[in-house]
Amino acid sequence: MAEDRTFRIMAPEPNETCELCASPGGAVLHSEPLCRVVLVADADYPAFCRVILNRHVREMTDLDASERLRLMTVVFAVERALRETLRPDKINLASFGNMTPHVHWHVIPRWRDDRHFPQPIWGCAQREQPARHPAPPELGAAIATALAAAAA
Ligand SMILES: [Zn+2]
Repeated sequence: MAEDRTFRIMAPEPNETCELCASPGGAVLHSEPLCRVVLVADADYPAFCRVILNRHVREMTDLDASERLRLMTVVFAVERALRETLRPDKINLASFGNMTPHVHWHVIPRWRDDRHFPQPIWGCAQREQPARHPAPPELGAAIATALAAAAA
């Protein structure tokens, strides 16, 4: 079966004008050849993590099966690490990628007293003085532990 590469061609080549090629996009918690995990600098959501593919690929289905599996293994390791270190009320997973050619996943711990709950963090604010739950210093280590457990 001939592979349709039309959509891959649409993703521009990496370059220094691309924000996610030029910089990590946050404090790096984990890094490997395929992807990285960063802590997003969001005042309302200090433990908001993002799993970012290092190269230019726009859609999950543009990745081969092994890369897709690895990327989601990392996403789920971040989810597990956030749950174990912070005990949030909920985890939100989202992938949009409308603004960048790097496919990425948002992994966001949520609490009933955060700024937008139960709305998505991109929705209407629900409270004026929200609680902010800081990222624990051991989050990077917890991600490494969750990845090691996933590989076992
Ligand atoms: Zn880029």
